[in-house]
Amino acid sequence: MTAATIELSGRSGGPVAVPGEALEDLAGKVEGRLLGPDDPGWDDAVRIWNGLAATAPALVLQPASAADVAAAVGFARAHGLLLGVKGGGHNIAGTAIAEGGLTLDLSGLCQLTVDPEARLAHVGPGCRLADVDRATQAHGLATPLGFISKVGVAGLTLGGGLGYLTRRFGWTADNLVEAEVVGADGQVRTASRERHPDLFWALRGGGGNLGVVTRFTFQLHPVGPQVVGGLIAWPFERAEEVMAAYRTLTAAAPRELATWLILLNAPPAPFVPAAWHGRRLCTFAVCHSGDPGDAERDLAPVRALGDPVFDLLGPQPYTEVQSYLDDTEPDGHHYYWRTEFLAGLEDGLLAGMRELFADCPIPEAELGVLHLSGALNERPADDGAVGNRDARYVLGVNGMWAPDEPEAGRFRQWVRDAGARLRPWSTGATYINFQTADEGDDRVRATYGANYDRLVEVKRRYDPDNLFRANRNIRP
Ligand SMILES: Cc1cc2nc3c(=O)[nH]c(=O)nc-3n(C[C@H](O)[C@H](O)[C@H](O)COP(=O)(O)OP(=O)(O)OC[C@H]3O[C@@H](n4cnc5c(N)ncnc54)[C@H](O)[C@@H]3O)c2cc1C
Repeated sequence: MTAATIELSGRSGGPVAVPGEALEDLAGKVEGRLLGPDDPGWDDAVRIWNGLAATAPALVLQPASAADVAAAVGFARAHGLLLGVKGGGHNIAGTAIAEGGLTLDLSGLCQLTVDPEARLAHVGPGCRLADVDRATQAHGLATPLGFISKVGVAGLTLGGGLGYLTRRFGWTADNLVEAEVVGADGQVRTASRERHPDLFWALRGGGGNLGVVTRFTFQLHPVGPQVVGGLIAWPFERAEEVMAAYRTLTAAAPRELATWLILLNAPPAPFVPAAWHGRRLCTFAVCHSGDPGDAERDLAPVRALGDPVFDLLGPQPYTEVQSYLDDTEPDGHHYYWRTEFLAGLEDGLLAGMRELFADCPIPEAELGVLHLSGALNERPADDGAVGNRDARYVLGVNGMWAPDEPEAGRFRQWVRDAGARLRPWSTGATYINFQTADEGDDRVRATYGANYDRLVEVKRRYDPDNLFRANRNIRP
């Protein structure tokens, strides 16, 4: 990039002029690349998943090491710049990009090593879920991660992390054993339960508020490589019966069985009979990660429902189960969600979901509930900032539409109204990683609950000037 003075967004609100010499000095200090909008690779560096939240920084640094990250953090601090940190770019609120500021694109920091004897994975912050699942499954091991394989490990872990293995092993953050982190002061620290325990506590759920994580170390568990999973669907007209069966199933299911109930309109996918394309369905997405010999027994209540529209349940690689929904969430579409944690599935909630979906105007909407209860509920409420140890399910009201959708305003309002209608059954908290840009600080506070004040204390110690603010922000 050329070394002319450029204007960036400053942390105090107004623009900051950064002289060309200062940019040259930064570019000379780092191994990685400094990019402006005219440089090759810019579009990929600033692209995020949710087109609705897309904004652009003025400058991108693609670090090649933790030392590069420290140099960039020092530069942002010294010049008073707004700083963004991009892992996988999948946060729905678009928090990876600091508009008009400096963004660190961590995609090049994707080192990944697995130590099968110690059952640990050391993971760079540019890795996607697929990278980790693939590398760990080569040893028949896994850590709980989410189920769209393009999502970034970094953002997912820092906000808590949930998926099909959560019932067995807790939040992803419960499986974090160590993190290397560049703080607001530019120091590189290794945090664990023994070293900088306060920082480690806050990193386990506190989002990007504490610093830039440059390496995650995860505990691994024997899983797969073959599991029993897939999708099974019934007509929406049977939703009352299917949802009642879901409640019965999840009340008794062993932890190896994780089931996600989803109301949706059938996509025109090859596995959906043509006559059903576009029609309303009640589906289960399933992963049974235990002994395959037990899976059919544990899935008997599902099979007993009979007459599915399609049934794709069967033995398959765990990595397949972790990625088969990828195409349902294309990059660049507009996404808008409301989410709540639930302690149970009361009649009113299930009836409300059905009534809402029956009248939903958004063709590509989903109302879903994922079963979480198990390991996460057994830890103390203050074991990590992530909290929410009373969550037994997570509820999502998810809308998706094309960028030129003329009804977008009405669709957003519908999602907001549907979220409000179902909120009475919430634990009072939502998943921090699913919060949209227009959800206020009250939602952040409610999510951390009793852990919020302690998180503020740790933030005050490690980031007193709130350098790391492009996130669901904890204000010191
Ligand atoms: C299609 C889809 C499916 C999803 N499915 C799941 C799921 O199954 N389970 C689940 O738990 N979540 C899921 N999520 C939510 C996901 O966990 C969050 O969107 C998460 O923020 C994504 O992380 P990222 O690194 O891709 O995002 P980014 O947008 O890059 O980052 C998210 C936030 O983390 C900060 N950050 C990123 N990297 C670092 C770092 N190294 N150090 C410090 N801060 C950093 C960013 O600044 C930003 O504030 C899903 C999201 C999408 C879009």
